[in-house]
Parts: sequence; structure tokens; C-alpha cells
Amino acid sequence: MRVARIALPLPKPRLFDYLVEDRDGLSVGLCARVPFGPGEKTGVIVALDPADAMSHDKLKPLRELLIDVPPLPGPWLAMAEFAARYYQHPLGEVIATALPPGLKRAVRLPREDDPLLAATAEGRAALAAAKKLTRALAAVSLVSSAGPMRRSAMLEQLDEGAATGLRDARNKGWLEVVAVSGDVAMLDAMALNPQQAAAVAAMSASLGRFESFLLHGITGSGKTEVYLQLIAATLGQGKSALMLVPEIGLTPQLLERVAGRFPGARLVSLHSGLADGARSRGFVQALRGEVDIVLGTRLSVFAPLPNLGLIVVDEEHDASFKQQEGLRYSARDMAVWRARNEGIPIVLGSATPSLESWLHADAGRYTRLSLTQRAVAEAPPSVRLIDTRRIKLDQGLSPHLVEALRERLERREQSLVFLNRRGYAPVITCPTCNWVSACKHCSANMVFHQADAILRCHHCGAEERVPRTCPDCGSHDVHAFGRGTQRLEERLGEYFPTARILRVDRDSVKTPAQWAAVRSQIDSGEVDILIGTQMLAKGHDFPRLTLVGIVGSDASLYSSDYRAPERLFQQLMQVAGRAGRAELPGEVLIQTEFVDHPLFRHLASQDFPGFAAMQLGERKQAGFPPYSYHAVLRAEAPELKEAVEFLRITRMAAQMITTETSLPVRLFDPVPMRLVRRARLERAQLVIEADSRAMLQTLLTSWVMGLHAMRLPRDLRWHLDVDPGDL
Ligand code: ADP
Ligand code: ZN
Ligand code: ZN
Repeated sequence: MRVARIALPLPKPRLFDYLVEDRDGLSVGLCARVPFGPGEKTGVIVALDPADAMSHDKLKPLRELLIDVPPLPGPWLAMAEFAARYYQHPLGEVIATALPPGLKRAVRLPREDDPLLAATAEGRAALAAAKKLTRALAAVSLVSSAGPMRRSAMLEQLDEGAATGLRDARNKGWLEVVAVSGDVAMLDAMALNPQQAAAVAAMSASLGRFESFLLHGITGSGKTEVYLQLIAATLGQGKSALMLVPEIGLTPQLLERVAGRFPGARLVSLHSGLADGARSRGFVQALRGEVDIVLGTRLSVFAPLPNLGLIVVDEEHDASFKQQEGLRYSARDMAVWRARNEGIPIVLGSATPSLESWLHADAGRYTRLSLTQRAVAEAPPSVRLIDTRRIKLDQGLSPHLVEALRERLERREQSLVFLNRRGYAPVITCPTCNWVSACKHCSANMVFHQADAILRCHHCGAEERVPRTCPDCGSHDVHAFGRGTQRLEERLGEYFPTARILRVDRDSVKTPAQWAAVRSQIDSGEVDILIGTQMLAKGHDFPRLTLVGIVGSDASLYSSDYRAPERLFQQLMQVAGRAGRAELPGEVLIQTEFVDHPLFRHLASQDFPGFAAMQLGERKQAGFPPYSYHAVLRAEAPELKEAVEFLRITRMAAQMITTETSLPVRLFDPVPMRLVRRARLERAQLVIEADSRAMLQTLLTSWVMGLHAMRLPRDLRWHLDVDPGDL
């Protein structure tokens, strides 16, 4: 017998020991079912020790070893252990996050093969004779034009009900299995332009060893084409590739594009929208080494690929790579760690990289490659600023924007009104002299708490009364942002009663099917004016879109969240990139009280490097990331004072550690959060700041151990967020 040390999905930073029979195939990394309390749990064996007489007395035997599926490979477990360490999260919960929920059942699924299918002569004849495209014929049609294709790739490209159609077609003898030649060549490789070719050459040269590349390429510069050719090179070496995309970026179009280019490759897509069964199946296939390409959202960074040769992270700046609950990991950062650990190259691509990655490239830790030209020539849109200090807005709309919309309607072109409605905590400003309610004790901007009419610093906890007049120039027009756009949509309808107006945001579009319906409405020209938020900014082409109006972006220029300008610039670059085609030039109208803000100047000249240099300068001066490292402890309880009291006590504990070890780590005061109440709980947070990751980690490791050991008030919950996305 042996002692199996098992990571179970429990909020405790410890392993649980069970007895296990020493049998063939017993190994670290296997999943096991174990008795636990009155029930049972499933976990993963992370260590195997010899059993002595004592353990025989004390330990229970485990119930079942899930031996049908290969053990999770060593590098995979190392990655989970790293995540547990770095994010200060129990290993069992890390593993539970990384494993698909239906794994237990999936391992019992019969092994499903993924044959290469081709159309037979009968199939082609049936297709030619048919009046109506049945599902079976749709499958035949796909391979008769594209050539032999993997079953999985066909399923990605066909509509719902494809599995039945495929089966029918095979039963009828319209499809046949052809031998796999072993090479998964790419179809239709494009002749690359010199910049693309240089990027592919540089990155291919590093296959087989670790190197981080930052591929900075404007929208439409052909980044995806570069990824595809790199993937081809990776598959050519007999290795698999992992490509991460933002949540909203994983569209059927992208899947089709990849499947269409690599018809012989075994492709799996992984995202949280999949049914448990499909997600588990993809995971198990990957683990068995039966997958060539995994394409997925952040959770697919945990896809077990025994033979991984390349990682691509597209739109690497995207906030959806950071998980906002449970294990608060950054899939981008984990991907870089994974690439280093497995000795393979990683490509981070974006038109507007995160400042973290940009600084890494400045410092030479990442190799920067730039694509500065659009692959298909198009003029960049012109950017015009509308000074809203001097005009009266009507439900957030300026007469200029209304006029511009009218022109587009007359010319039968499309417009997009982009509402920046992120729940940024509002600060108080004076548009007359650009005064901002900055904190006197640190560099953060203070947040306006309407409920108690107070300004509060979410960084250090300082409080102040809201001034009636501007402290700098005496103007009476000091105010918070975000007024008056509530009825914007209705008001547009009143201005343009015959226009077809469509709102696209997370409330109106929730499922991929709804999204597909919206897209086809837009593409077929059934929409005149789109009203949208972030969702519309990302990688979608709108052929007749010539006007983008931007409303409500000022709150991001001066926000308490130091990342807000970076996010705003990213969004505006993306959304501006949607406007205009060669024959229909685009225009971007921005309504703002701050027409002189340098962010707009960099936007107008499409100058990301200039913007990044400016922002990094400000961050450096203020001592914000990426020049410092943050962790936030958040607590929630039925009453705010309990949450604050808990944070106060834990802060003292942290203080003791930092004094003892003389760690130069800054501990700020607990602050109530602006949205204090959520789900009948009240929330507060405590910010910790350090000059180096290592120092922060040293403190967190001993501090969090203490937190786990604390006896908590019954209704109090806490969590730690390392490298938080927002403060
Ligand atoms: P990005 O990912 O940077 O936005 P894409 O790779 O999607 O850009 O390319 C934008 C468009 O340009 C696509 O339609 C693509 O097919 C086309 N394209 C990319 N590279 C080339 C090339 N070398 N030659 C011709 N067209 C290209
Ligand atoms: Zn002023
Ligand atoms: Zn402060």
C-alpha cells in the first residue's frame, strides 16, 4: 500500500491523505474518488509516499482510481502548483478550476476517433443531383470543396445537428475515411508582406526554446495570418499549439478560419459556454495527446497538451484573460509562465498591448515585432473632438453628433454610437481648469461616494468632503462624470423615427446564437445606427460603417482606477478601427470636456507607442503598476463595520510580518467599496503595494496562511486578488 496525497476542491490550503493499493499504472497526476465526511469527493494525486503501520491505522483507503485517463503530466501539475502559490489559493481549488466539471463522467466515455473524411464519388453525385441541401449533403459539400477534413474540424464548421448529418452521410457511403498522411499542412497560405514574413521568421527560429514575443500590429495588419503560419510551423514539427483568445473573440468565424486552414488537424475549442460533456471530452482528448490545436478562452490555458510547441495569446491586453472570481488568475501571465516552464515560444499579440507587456518589451525581456501596415490598404479614420463644455447636450447627445448621424442616414451608411459605460468609480473634476479630486496622501484619484457625499481614496483610505467650488480656480462647475446618458437610446429614436436602431451590449446579447443573429442583421445592412458598449469594439467588421460617435468617455480620462485611460485608449483604437473602408472613409467623433487631453492626440495619430510612453511615465511617477505590484484583500459581511474590522485585524497581522522581516511593503487602510452593498453583503478592501513581486509574495505567503487559520465571524467572507485588474 502507498499513501496518496490528494488535492481536493476545498477552501483549505492542505492535502488529504488516503491509502491506495500499489498497482500497475499508479502515478501522481491521476484523478481519484475518495470518501469524505458522509459523502465523497474527486481530486488529484499530487504525491505518493510509502505507507507505514501508522498510516494503515489512521487513513481510509481511496474509493476509485480513474485509471482510464492518463495522469495529468508533470508540467501541468507544476503549473497548478505555481498558480496556487502565486495567487495564494488552495491547490485543490486551483485544480478544480482547471479541470472541466464533467471529467469524472468523461473518462468513462468511449474513445472517439477523429478520422479524416473525404467525399466519395457517390457523395459528389448525390450533391450534384440534390435540390435541397440536407445535413448529410452539407457535410459532403464541405469536404468536396475543401478536401479531406477531420471529423472534429467538420463539426466546428457545420451548423447544429452536424453530428447526425455526418453519420447519415457515412452510412449512405457519401463520405469515406482516408488515411492520415501524418502531415497537417496548412491550406491557402498567403504570401506574407515583408513585416509579416520577418515576424514569422523570427518566431519560427525560436521553436523548441522559450522566448516571449510581443506582436504589436494594428487592426487588420495580418496578425492572425502570422499566428496561422506559426501554428503551421509548429504542427510541422509534430507538436501541438495552444491559442488563447478573449471571451468575445472566440467566434464561429475564427473557428472556421482555423479549421478551414488546417483541415487535417485535430482541433478542439474550449470555453466556459460549452456543455460540461463537450468541455470534458476536449480536455480528455488533449490529455491523451489526440489534439493538434486548442483554441479557447482563458480557461484553456489549463488544457493539458503533452506535446505543446507554441502558445499564442491574441488581444493579450484584454481584461477577460483575468478571472474575477474564485481563482483570480491571469491567463496571459499563466501562459507566459507555462511557455517558460515547457521551454517553448509564446506570442502575445495586440494592436494596443497592455502596458505590462509593453514595458517588458522596452526592457528587452520580450522581443517586440511590429506590423505597421494594414494588410489590405485602408485609410485610417479621421478623429474630431467635440468640446461639450460650451454646448448644451440633449440626453448626452451634441447637435454635432446628431447632424453627423443624419448625414450617414441620408447616405445609407451605418453609424455606431459607442457608450463608455463601464462602472468606473466617479471622481470630481473641474472642466474649467482640469482640476481632479486627487488624494493628498498618495497618487490615486479620490472616489465620489454619493450616499454619504464624501470623497474617499480607494488606495489608502483617506477621506474628504466634496468641495462646492474648485479649489484651484474657484469655478462652481465641479461635478462627477456620467450624467445624462440614461435616455440616450430613446432620444435617438425620437430624432430618427424611421432609422433602424439596434442596441448591442451584454444585456441584449447573451448567447453565441444571439450574437450570430445580431451580426447577420448588421452585415446584411438591416441596421442604420448601432448603440453599443465594449462588446462591439472587438474584432468585427462592419462593411458600411463610416461614423463612430463616442459618448461618455471622460469618466475614464480621470478615474480613480489608474488603468482606466489605458482601457479607454484600447477601446477607442479598436472601435475607431471599425470605421471606414477604402472607398468609404471613416470618421470618429468624440464628445468630451477635455479636448486637450493628450490621449486624444495620440488616438488621432494612431500612435500607440506615444500613448504608452506617456502612460508609463505617469505610472512611474505615481508608483503604480507595472512599476509596483498590488494585491487586494476584499472582505464582505452583512454589515460594513464587520468587514472593515476584519481587514483592520488582518492588516495588523501583516504589519507584524513586515516589521519582523523589515519588508518594504506598503499596507494601506481598509476602505469601503463604492458599491458597498452587493447581494445583501457589504464590502471593503485593503490594498497592499510592493516594489517587487518577490517582496509581495514573501509577505502574502505567511500572511495568507494566518488568514486561513483565523476563526471568522460566521457570515464573513474574504478573498485575495493578486495583480488585481481594478482597484
Ligand atoms: P489582424 O489579425 O491583425 O486584425 P488579419 O490576419 O485578420 O489581421 O488580416 C486582416 C485581413 O487581411 C484579412 O482579411 C486577411 O485575410 C488579410 N491578410 C492578412 N495577411 C495578408 C497578406 N499577406 N496578403 C493578403 N491579405 C492578407
Ligand atoms: Zn477649476
Ligand atoms: Zn490616497
